[in-house]
Amino acid sequence: MRGDRIGLGRAGPVGNGTPGPDVPESAWARAVGLISAAPEVALACHVSPDADALGSMLAAGRALTGLGKKVVASFGDRRFVVPRLLRFLPGQELLVEPAGYPAAPEVMITFDASTTARLGLLNRNAARARELIVMDHHPSNEGFGTMSLIDPAAAATAVLVEELLRRLGVPLDRDIAMCLYAGLVTDTGSFRHASTTPAAHAMAARLIATGLRTDEIARELWDRSPFGYLKVLGLALDRVALERDAVHGLGLVWTFVPRLDRAAYGLPYAEVEGMIDVIRRADEAEVAVVLKEDDDGAWQVSTRSKGAVDMSRVCTAFGGGGHRMAAGYTSLLTVEETMTSLRDLLASAPVEPPR
Ligand code: MN
Repeated sequence: MRGDRIGLGRAGPVGNGTPGPDVPESAWARAVGLISAAPEVALACHVSPDADALGSMLAAGRALTGLGKKVVASFGDRRFVVPRLLRFLPGQELLVEPAGYPAAPEVMITFDASTTARLGLLNRNAARARELIVMDHHPSNEGFGTMSLIDPAAAATAVLVEELLRRLGVPLDRDIAMCLYAGLVTDTGSFRHASTTPAAHAMAARLIATGLRTDEIARELWDRSPFGYLKVLGLALDRVALERDAVHGLGLVWTFVPRLDRAAYGLPYAEVEGMIDVIRRADEAEVAVVLKEDDDGAWQVSTRSKGAVDMSRVCTAFGGGGHRMAAGYTSLLTVEETMTSLRDLLASAPVEPPR
């Protein structure tokens, strides 16, 4: 029976479930050997961590601690603050500020970072690590470490981490599962994006079976905000613009959030992360953009497409990165200048029929 192939067993060659991540056996074997032999492992995820970056790192941290290893975990932001949305994730006792991170780790693992630039301050430590294991699922990741556990087809970096833990012989407990689930559910857009494969659902089933509360995780991630968010969203919606002729006539919808708006309502930068999900609803636009001014005055540009335009290519051209339908970059120009250069690039970007 065909349906038998889609079981809920562990992924990978040992289980009877859906196929595991597409990483060469030799790479898994080498990574497992390195990690098993190391008394100390340093973990790092990308700056301004999202749930997949931080969740993947903390899940691995918990697991490696359980194996008796000394573990430090960090991310290279100058302002070292865990976004409020992610403070419910277990394992944060492993976090150290970048200044307290080993200068030249014997074994270092990076999570969900597609380039060394995404490591921020920890780029220096990564450059001096004896072994640098890169775990990621961004198609643009060229593998900047001494070894790669990269699968561009994986729904989340958490998928790769689950497989690593299985190979290390670490059973999933509720805390590890919460961290991995936060990454999986975020990167699949609550199992709505095209990355939502049978394997993604099978992994979710394994995680939920540990007893985690999907309702509580969903509320922490998406269904709560300080009141000030509503006011700042109102201002952003008030200035939202639709440019029907942009992107070869496919349409562009965009808005911006100056830090003064946030300051007026005491709203931290991280709280405006999800605003793009409101803006991208507009049927009349293929591409949605939100420019968010961070506390340093730089504009963090979030972009989404509905599949016809590869936003990863567009954002990479501006020094950022991401996925086809969700990508971003940092702009030090004004809003007007940023939008002019983005519009120009979108006007020459190849348009493909949605997959
Ligand atoms: Mn990710």
